[in-house]
Amino acid sequence: MTQENNMQVPFFTFRDFPDGIHARIEQTLVEEYRRQQFILGASVQEFERSFSDYIGVKEAVGVGNGFDALVLSLRALGVGPGDDVLLPGNSFIATINAVQQVGATPVLLDPDEKTYNLTAQAVNQAITQHTKAVIPVHLFGLPCPMPQIMQVAQEKGILVVEDCAQAHGAVVAGRQVGSFGHVNAFSFYPTKNLGAVGDAGAVVSQDLERLNFIRKYQNYGQSQRYAYELPGVNSRLDSLQAAVLSVKLPYLGQLNEERRRLARSYSQQLAGVGDLECPAEVPPGTEPVFHLYVVRTRQRDALQQYLQKKGISTLVHYPVPAHLQKAYGHLGLRKGGLPVTEALAATSLSLPLYPGMTEGEQHYVVEQVQHFFA
Ligand SMILES: *Cc1c(COP(=O)(O)O)cnc(C)c1O
Repeated sequence: MTQENNMQVPFFTFRDFPDGIHARIEQTLVEEYRRQQFILGASVQEFERSFSDYIGVKEAVGVGNGFDALVLSLRALGVGPGDDVLLPGNSFIATINAVQQVGATPVLLDPDEKTYNLTAQAVNQAITQHTKAVIPVHLFGLPCPMPQIMQVAQEKGILVVEDCAQAHGAVVAGRQVGSFGHVNAFSFYPTKNLGAVGDAGAVVSQDLERLNFIRKYQNYGQSQRYAYELPGVNSRLDSLQAAVLSVKLPYLGQLNEERRRLARSYSQQLAGVGDLECPAEVPPGTEPVFHLYVVRTRQRDALQQYLQKKGISTLVHYPVPAHLQKAYGHLGLRKGGLPVTEALAATSLSLPLYPGMTEGEQHYVVEQVQHFFA
């Protein structure tokens, strides 16, 4: 038999793509270590500048991680106790945790059945007098319809925090995600499209006043050395991470293009196989970045087990939605409360996808999925 029968395909792995990037990162870590400016060093400002230029906003503030980026964004917008915040029910848990963290009330909405993202219409219908903000999450790297969401937000007088943790470099209506909302959050968790070598995040905005608040708040509320203007926290982007991110940022376009190429290849080869539903076609002017490649099937668990036996690792994003977690029982939502979110949790499967994935690896995954449904 062919050697392919013994093939192992990881769900995600760090390949040296583009060629030589590993060596460049190692070199940068050594150089940055020798600079001995570990906290708020020049490399942090350098990265903040190049990242805000890349996104097309006035400024970026590096923070400790993506969760903090969301919390600081909400705080900068004055969201707190007594405020409702709209968000999708099918996001990663960090989004709802951030709302809870600032003392506001999370209001979970079902996403669109095809895009898995919030629509402007769903947001519009959910707004009440208590709604202070909405968090559109560009889930799996597919941008939400931001021009329409911003229009609704403007008409109804609510604020917008984009959760861009899975969508660095994604474009909608010709603009980068993170350039639409009032204050927007990024994570650079290592496996994200732009990943550090540890925890890291950033907040971006056109609103310098709100970013200045975050700059103080993230550093104990300090305005000058040992002068504290407000009771803050510690959530700084560390210099080693900033230096690595500056090395990787110029490659983000290439990394995302490779993800799109792999996604197109999956979609071409898996179209019409069994009851598989591949990711939705996108409207013109939209460029997704495929943080994840998520398919749907009624036989999800059986497919996952079959692939595992064949050496292929897959994951479910996410198996139990927030409203059915113990942590959010107090929201009072029961099973059946968010039917689309629950259907997605029961039928979604994320296939292996990472820059540097070989043709042989992808071919093997496609073949085994075809075998399962044959
Ligand atoms: C990863 C992620 C976060 C949180 O980022 P961390 O850096 O891990 O704190 C927030 N929202 C979404 C949608 C994410 O995928």
